[in-house]
Amino acid sequence: MPLEIDITIIGAGVIGLAIAVEVAQEGKEVFVFDKNQTFGLETSSRNSQIIHTGIYYPTNSLKAKLCVEGKNLLYELCEGHGIGYKKLGKVIVAVNENEVKEVERIYEQGRRNGVKDLTLLSRKELKKLEPNVEGIAGLLSPSTGILDSYALMRFFYRNAKERGVKFVFNSEVIGIEKTGTKYRIKTRDREGISSFTTPILINCAGLNSHKIAELIRIDIAQAGYKLHYCKGEYWSVNSKKRSFITRLIYPAPEQAGLGIHITLDLEGKMRLGPNVRYTEEIDYRVDETQKRVFYESVKRFLPFLELEDLEPDFAGVRPKLQGPEEVFRDFVIAHEDKKGLPGLINLIGIESPGLTASPAIARYVARMVKELFH
Ligand SMILES: Cc1cc2nc3c(=O)[nH]c(=O)nc-3n(C[C@H](O)[C@H](O)[C@H](O)COP(=O)(O)OP(=O)(O)OC[C@H]3O[C@@H](n4cnc5c(N)ncnc54)[C@H](O)[C@@H]3O)c2cc1C
Repeated sequence: MPLEIDITIIGAGVIGLAIAVEVAQEGKEVFVFDKNQTFGLETSSRNSQIIHTGIYYPTNSLKAKLCVEGKNLLYELCEGHGIGYKKLGKVIVAVNENEVKEVERIYEQGRRNGVKDLTLLSRKELKKLEPNVEGIAGLLSPSTGILDSYALMRFFYRNAKERGVKFVFNSEVIGIEKTGTKYRIKTRDREGISSFTTPILINCAGLNSHKIAELIRIDIAQAGYKLHYCKGEYWSVNSKKRSFITRLIYPAPEQAGLGIHITLDLEGKMRLGPNVRYTEEIDYRVDETQKRVFYESVKRFLPFLELEDLEPDFAGVRPKLQGPEEVFRDFVIAHEDKKGLPGLINLIGIESPGLTASPAIARYVARMVKELFH
C-alpha cells in the first residue's frame, strides 16, 4: 500500500463503484476500500432492482434530479454493455377516492420532475392493461424498469479496474484524522492496522456513512447526518401466479416508503415488499409473523393472491436521514469545505432511488473532484 493515495473511496457498493469509474478519468491514483470480502454485499444487493423514474420526490431535490438523469444513463449502460434489464412499466393503483387524489398528485409531481410519459388510467383502462388487478383508477409509468444490479456492479468494478482503480477488500476504515491539507486514514485488515494519507476522501460507506463522518469529528446530530435504519422485508410469491401480472404493481405510496408492492425480477420471480420498519440494528432476517400483514396490505388490489402463496425471502436496510413520521430528507452529497474539511466528500442517506441514480451521482461527485484539482 502506498503512503499517499490521490483519491480514496470508502465503500464498494454501487455508489462507490460508479464513482470509482468516473473519478479514475482524472488520471489520478484511486483506491477503494471495503470491509467485506468483495464489492456489493450490503444494501446494493438487498433491494428491489427497480429502475425508478423519479416521480415521487420534490422537484429540484437531488433525489428527483439524479433519479431522472440516472434512469436515462442506466438504460444506455444496460443497452450498450449487455447488462440485463427490462423496461416493464409500472402501474400505481388507487382503490378509493383518497387514493385517486394521491395518484393524481403523483402524476403532477412526476410531470414537474420532467417525467413526461405518465398516463392516468380509468378503471377500464387499468383492467385492460392488468386484468387481474383491482382498482378504480391508476397511473401508468411506462419507462420504469428492472435490472440486474449484480451485473451493473460487475460492470462498474471491471471498468474501474481497467482504468487502474485499486480495490482493497477485507479492509475496514477505522480512523480518520485531518493533518494539514490531507487526511490520515487508518485501516484494519487481517494483517493488522495500516495508515496512509490522502487529499481527497469520498465517503460512500452506506449504512456506516454517518459513522465515517463521526470519525472525522463531524457533529452528526448538528449536521443532520444521523442515520436511521429502516428495514424492508420481501416475501416471494408462488411461481404459479407469475402470469397474473405483466408490470410492477404499486399501491398509492405511504409516508416512509412506496407501499408494499409487487415486483418482478428478470427471471419473472414475483415478490411482495418492501415493508417499512425502523430498527436500531442491522439484521437481515425476515419476520415470519408479518405474513398476514403483507397479504392484507396487497389483497385489496391483488385479489388473485392467497396467503399460502407467500414465503419469506430476504430483507434490506435503508440508510434513512428521516426518522419515523419525519418529513422528506434529500440525499446528502456534500463537499465539506464549509466545515473546514476541504477534500472530503460525504454521501449520506443514499437510500432509494440510489441504485437508479448511481451513474448520475457518480458524475455529480466527479465534477466536485474535478474542481478540487483545478
Ligand atoms: C429495501 C430496499 C429497496 C431498495 N430498492 C431500490 C430500487 O428498487 N431502486 C433503486 O434505485 N434503489 C433502491 N434501493 C436503494 C439502493 O439499494 C441504495 O441506494 C444503494 O444500494 C446504496 O448503495 P451504496 O453504495 O451507497 O451502499 P452499500 O451498498 O451499502 O455499500 C456501502 C459499502 O460500504 C462499505 N463500508 C461501510 N463501512 C465501511 C468501513 N468503515 N470501511 C470500509 N468499508 C465500509 C460496506 O461494506 C459496503 O460494501 C433500495 C434500498 C433498500 C434498502
